[in-house]
Amino acid sequence: MEQEIAVAIDDLTVAYNYKPVLWDIDLTIPKGVLMAVVGPNGAGKSTLIKSVLGIIKPIAGSVTIFGKPYKKQRQLVAYVPQKGSVDWDFPTTALDVVLMGTYGTLGWIKRPGKNEKKAALEALEKVGMLPFKSRQISQLSGGQQQRIFLARALVQNAEIYFMDEPFQGVDATTEKAIINILKLLRKAGKTVVVVHHDLQTVPEYFDWVTFLNVKKIATGPVKDIFNNDNLIKTYGINYQVSIQE
Ligand code: ADP
Repeated sequence: MEQEIAVAIDDLTVAYNYKPVLWDIDLTIPKGVLMAVVGPNGAGKSTLIKSVLGIIKPIAGSVTIFGKPYKKQRQLVAYVPQKGSVDWDFPTTALDVVLMGTYGTLGWIKRPGKNEKKAALEALEKVGMLPFKSRQISQLSGGQQQRIFLARALVQNAEIYFMDEPFQGVDATTEKAIINILKLLRKAGKTVVVVHHDLQTVPEYFDWVTFLNVKKIATGPVKDIFNNDNLIKTYGINYQVSIQE
């Protein structure tokens, strides 16, 4: 049986101030993979995710989510933005932030009720943040905030999860907790796309990888394409790597 496609990106080109940062990207992401997007700083990794989510308008190309435009599939997609990109000063509790994740499944007028609250508490439990449910979000550490955002994504009960450097600035325990949740999501048949920096952990954490540096260098199973050849093509000839092949 042919593998179902979760995300299809066709001929995508994105520019800021006329300078292309993504060039003619063709990329298909099969359903059910746990995929790392790797590439040097400024390679366009965040831009790629933002373009898929319609946050940035490309100058050319198209994206579909399970065969339809993002606008029609919004409810299937959850997004955990990069930590630094969020204003944490708004006065709201951890539980409220997670509850916001349930809004997409409610109508315009309905407010979150018992079921939504139960789901939010369960998600907080899963990420180990239940004891902090009443804490103001601004009074949590960076890693804890990241876990709250993950909990919010979990209650969305999406089909595809996009996460922009979820391990950035978190301690080892949090990193393990997050990766375990991502693996559980994959086990449940979800598709998870993660912008990732630590090349050493790619083979342990992910089963799929995309190498990006303005252009798509390669995409596919980690076991087939995570090799020095692609790393050098992506990071440059002087890049010293010691990947065990
Ligand atoms: P990565 O996530 O791989 O580090 P980004 O997608 O954040 O890369 O950025 C790609 C390029 O686009 C970089 O050169 C960055 O400076 C530039 N860029 C990102 N966002 C903007 C913006 N809002 N305006 C202008 N240039 C931007």
